[in-house]
Amino acid sequence: MAIIGIDLGTTNSLAATYKDGESVLIPNEFGEYLTPSVVHISKDNNVIVGKSAKEMLVVDPDNTISVFKRSMGLNKKFHLRNRNYSPEELSAFVIKKLVEDAKRELQEEIEEVIISVPAYFDDMRRKATKRAGEIAGVKVDRLINEPSAAVLACRMEDEGEDCVYLVFDFGGGTLDVSIVECFDNVISVNAVSGDNHLGGSDFDNIIARYICEQFSKNFDKLSKEDQSIILKKAEQLKKELSKENAASITIESETINGSVSLTHDKLVELSSKLFNRIKKPVRQALNDSDFALDEISKIILVGGSSKMTVVNMYLYYLFQIELYSFGNPDETVAKGLGFYAGMKERNKNIRDIVMTDVCPFSLGVDTLNEADPLNPYFSPIIERNSTLPISKIGYYTTTHNRQKAIELNIYQGDERFAKQNLFLDKIEVSVKPRPAGDENIMVRFTYDLNGILDVDVEVLSNHAKFKKTIINKNMDLSKEEIKEQLKKMEELKKDPRTKEENQYLLALANALYRETSGQLRDYIDSIIRYFDNVLMEGNEQKIDYVRKRLMVVLSNLEAGLYDYSFNEEEYDSEDYNEEEEFLNNMRSGNTEEAQMDKDDLEEDNFLSMLKEPPEDDI
Ligand code: AMP
Repeated sequence: MAIIGIDLGTTNSLAATYKDGESVLIPNEFGEYLTPSVVHISKDNNVIVGKSAKEMLVVDPDNTISVFKRSMGLNKKFHLRNRNYSPEELSAFVIKKLVEDAKRELQEEIEEVIISVPAYFDDMRRKATKRAGEIAGVKVDRLINEPSAAVLACRMEDEGEDCVYLVFDFGGGTLDVSIVECFDNVISVNAVSGDNHLGGSDFDNIIARYICEQFSKNFDKLSKEDQSIILKKAEQLKKELSKENAASITIESETINGSVSLTHDKLVELSSKLFNRIKKPVRQALNDSDFALDEISKIILVGGSSKMTVVNMYLYYLFQIELYSFGNPDETVAKGLGFYAGMKERNKNIRDIVMTDVCPFSLGVDTLNEADPLNPYFSPIIERNSTLPISKIGYYTTTHNRQKAIELNIYQGDERFAKQNLFLDKIEVSVKPRPAGDENIMVRFTYDLNGILDVDVEVLSNHAKFKKTIINKNMDLSKEEIKEQLKKMEELKKDPRTKEENQYLLALANALYRETSGQLRDYIDSIIRYFDNVLMEGNEQKIDYVRKRLMVVLSNLEAGLYDYSFNEEEYDSEDYNEEEEFLNNMRSGNTEEAQMDKDDLEEDNFLSMLKEPPEDDI
């Protein structure tokens, strides 16, 4: 019985397992690792998946479908040969095919599968992915965020120092940017952002339209068959441009006959809007993370589209740091899943690496909207991108005179109005009927990796307690497992202030405050306030990180070394040129500035840089 990992991609899917001390990719019947995520239903209702189905995209486009992962978890159906299929059903066909390939290749039954998902998939889309596994008839052990898997693959190869990675996962239909931290044997996703409607196929579309223009044709007016032929040629041209500065292709179709050439410069010019869209999630992830731009030590390239030379150049242009690709960027996530399969099998040859995750959405409750009481506001308690597990508190109050109960509706999402988010459950809290605002409640949300949300409410006036545990049914946890998880979560509810190491830092800082005066005293005061705020946020990992840094600063001060290296708005540079100003704006969250100052300039510079590529080959 084996465990396999499945990288269920928008364009291609892969499977891997852990064998003989290594993560190995599993080939399909053609001996290839990439199986196109394409499904075709034949005349006699046979389901065909992969390379043969991809061929049918041209021959029989009405009964062939690709790029359905984009709609995973959304209420969408695809019509193929007299029947409607949900994205889950179509994904199930792909999973089933990969499991069958694995059975044949490994000569073993497949016990469980681990499936990777984009880090920003919300609960609904994760549930749909799990359902796809169930439809395929396999037990889905865990869903793993794609960037965590990519970093795991790199960490297994590279025994390097602790560092912060930016995982740039650019596939056929999605861009997923994550900031991932590695400290000792813990991999934790610090922030994620993405665009699930941006990928290599957008470049194909742009190139296809450019090809048509060269023959004075309108792409949208071509037959489906011709569109497929041109798109295939466009993809070919794009891939050629990953090897050469210029490339050309020849087309022979009903409406277009001839050859077309394309250069890097022209491709950048045609795709300037796509580059701007690439920049957005990169910025967002950096802004949401705890790290400044110059703390990112490596960019891990993942996904087929990150092989594009122009994309690599753009990233190098933005960051000027090493771009790291683990062998083939298409295979990085699957390789990581293979290592994870080894960890699941408790293989002794493999270092036990802990993977923490972030919450890809906010969790909170509804609050009164006086202007429109039927449309309450959403008040997040656990913010998107918080490192899991986490425990956080929010305070709420009665809004009407003689109100006897507060009904808290619990939602997941990031929309301003509660009802636009995903409703999870509700809890009713009885309070004494008193004037509005006199009764206050403390609401604590504790959320863990297994999707258990523990809600504890305390009425502050009489300490009455109310509780609700919301379990993600998708996780298939047994009663014992739930009990065990809840026990662990109790630990989290302890106030970080009571932890010895945090108390020690505060005691040291307060002692130094007492001993000093003037500017130095103000400086120590700002450190204490900052650490107080970090403690209040309750993000354990951040607390650890900040405490370690502050400990060095305070120890230096104690030793009489005037260490002023702590600065909340860190790394501000005085003598920046325009380029650095853009980067500074990016990291300080001033995205508007960065956008206004540099958008035009950036494209010009980027274009001119392409004309004189940097010396080192990236
Ligand atoms: P994925 O979803 O990660 O399988 O990525 C597939 C995407 O990567 C498709 O849009 C491919 O056209 C693109 N791709 C694969 N190989 C290359 C290459 N050598 N150069 C440029 N794009 C590529």
